[in-house]
Amino acid sequence: MDYRKLIRDIPDFPKEGILFRDITPLLADGPAYKAAITQLGEQAKAWGAEVIVGPEARGYVVGAPLSYALEVGFVPVRKRGKLPSETVSVTYDLEYGQDMLEIHTDAIQPGQKVVLADDLLATGGTMAATIELVEKLGGIVVGAAFFIELSPLNGREKLGNIPMRTLVQYE
Ligand code: AMP
Repeated sequence: MDYRKLIRDIPDFPKEGILFRDITPLLADGPAYKAAITQLGEQAKAWGAEVIVGPEARGYVVGAPLSYALEVGFVPVRKRGKLPSETVSVTYDLEYGQDMLEIHTDAIQPGQKVVLADDLLATGGTMAATIELVEKLGGIVVGAAFFIELSPLNGREKLGNIPMRTLVQYE
């Protein structure tokens, strides 16, 4: 399946100089969306996923159907102050300033095999922070799945030895 034609390029969004890779046409195409999730799901199953973790908001669009397909749980990672119960948090660097991500303290059991999901890997900052959260709770990250990888930004390096699977790579 050629997903590339279902990814729309929007120049200068959300700010000048950024080429935004918009996955909404892919999401709007039922068979393509299903095929993408099936492909990533086969990989996540092979990694032995026991739970899927995804950062808001587009991580849910990839992670939640993956968890449904594999019949494993889904755990949301959210921005500061959004999760209602007890949380652990990490701060991470953005292009300008910092941000904070949180996860519920009881969301992952120690030793549980976790697969991370998001729509797109860019610098890897979001994933590095998500890995830190999972590891704080004793989870073992066994893989990371994305629709898209922006290869020149070297996000892969931030994942260290964690295996990853992407459907479309942009050079
Ligand atoms: P990063 O932390 O740099 O790997 O950025 C990853 C997050 O930012 C993902 O959740 C993406 O949804 C979003 N993102 C970063 N760059 C882009 C881009 N060029 N097009 C679309 N989304 C992006």
